[in-house]
Amino acid sequence: MTDTVDNTYATTDVMQAAVVTEFGAPLEIATLALPKPGNRQALVKLETTGVCHTDLHAAHGDWPVKPQPPFIPGHEGCGTVVALGEGVDDIQVGDRIGNVWLWSACGECEFCRTGWETLCESQRNGGYSVNGSFGTYMLVDTAYAARIPDGADPLEVAPILCAGVTVYKGLKETEAGPGEWVAISGIGGLGHIAVQYALAMGLRVLAVDVDDSKLALATELGAEIALNARNVDLAVEARKATGGVHGVLVTAVHPQAFGQAVGLVRRGGTIVFNGLPPGDFPAPIFDIVLNRLTIRGSIVGTRQDLAEALDFYARGLIRPKVTPARLDEVNDIFERMKRGQIDGRMVIDFREDAIDQPAR
Ligand code: NAD
Ligand code: ZN
Ligand code: ZN
Repeated sequence: MTDTVDNTYATTDVMQAAVVTEFGAPLEIATLALPKPGNRQALVKLETTGVCHTDLHAAHGDWPVKPQPPFIPGHEGCGTVVALGEGVDDIQVGDRIGNVWLWSACGECEFCRTGWETLCESQRNGGYSVNGSFGTYMLVDTAYAARIPDGADPLEVAPILCAGVTVYKGLKETEAGPGEWVAISGIGGLGHIAVQYALAMGLRVLAVDVDDSKLALATELGAEIALNARNVDLAVEARKATGGVHGVLVTAVHPQAFGQAVGLVRRGGTIVFNGLPPGDFPAPIFDIVLNRLTIRGSIVGTRQDLAEALDFYARGLIRPKVTPARLDEVNDIFERMKRGQIDGRMVIDFREDAIDQPAR
């Protein structure tokens, strides 16, 4: 232990974290030295962190651009600032802030300058290229960290930091307007929050999943139509019920859902991909051209999208369904996630009283 933190409210000089040591291997719970906040950075004592399917992709090395083990995943972390580096003027020790996927960006390239910081080629990603929130402490870049609204429940607000902002931005990118139909394909961590944002934005919701309990949740949250892709012809049923939806948001973790999205949309509609399963899907060129369809990807959201997404939460319009867990349950959480057995979001709770509780 060489680096200790000056002027810190941290009660210890070590931290516990779940570490990916090798792709596909179980994460190891390790004791590490507390990192020291650098320029513009804050050291944050975590209260909670959501577990996103992206963390599972990261731990498996699923994507073409891979993180480098050993690393700490997690990008839905909410906690309290305990120490500050140089050059921070708008965050104080004691403030509640969170880490996000867009951990930092250059601030100067053509994308950063034009409101597309999510496309910055020099961006760093929380829990991927920078250590994340699956630990008792983490560093954030205060220029990009989430400001947690006053009165937020740390368990409920954590999933807004990735799932929430991602689907909120994705729904905007469908260009569907109030009173129009949007299909949300995949009602998991992202999708069940997408149903809530869609309704808050005045959209009508058709939910699609392959699991009836996910569809029951969508209906409970206000989806008017829920279709199981395993049991029905989606294109036929969607057309019968809505005449074809105006927008589709795909958050599913199977490539099949991406091809099926084309059959749900009406002429002129827009299909937005949030989900990131490894693989490809077949796309019917004739339908896309003749029907003037738009297919676009959407990656998290900007700091402004995040502030707006958090504001929807703060006004009581969004309430993620969360199940608390302990850090040492992280490998079980990943197992359940692989099998599609999580309703809503699992959120790791680091608070003292939570750590003493028996396994749930
Ligand atoms: P999750 O595991 O919580 O949910 C996935 C859902 O997909 C489950 O409800 C599952 O039943 C459903 N599903 C599986 N196969 C399906 C099919 N064929 N048709 C319809 N639904 C199907 O995962 P999550 O945390 O919600 O993440 C979803 C995906 O989004 C992941 O690939 C993740 O990496 C990605 N993601 C992307 C962004 C982004 O910015 N684009 C941000 C966060 C997450
Ligand atoms: Zn995520
Ligand atoms: Zn940039």
